[in-house]
Amino acid sequence: MDRPVCKVCNKNYCAANYYRNGIRHYRSKCESCKRKNKQIKAPEPKWKKLGYKKKTACDMCGFKRLYDSQLHVFHIDGNLNNNELINLRTICLNCVEIVKKKELTWKQGDLEID
Ligand SMILES: [Zn+2]
Ligand SMILES: [Zn+2]
Repeated sequence: MDRPVCKVCNKNYCAANYYRNGIRHYRSKCESCKRKNKQIKAPEPKWKKLGYKKKTACDMCGFKRLYDSQLHVFHIDGNLNNNELINLRTICLNCVEIVKKKELTWKQGDLEID
């Protein structure tokens, strides 16, 4: 039997995947590495946890997003821990540049996970 060894830890045998035509197929990782991988998920951004929803249009210029990544959440007082709704703005990448050039206090909040 040639059960492959986990590519991640190089120690445990790979987890069984499926059985077809009399052949057992295996995953590239063992059970415990598979599980570990799931735990590495990035935490939710703070502003999201505290109830702010990123808008679908820019708060500064009104640009409507096509993709979620075109808009970022900014803290207008520059304090990333101040997640009061009044302190948060959704702005587009263009306006991010304007904010930087104008040297406003605004700071970008945690990024959302894809
Ligand atoms: Zn492993
Ligand atoms: Zn904008």
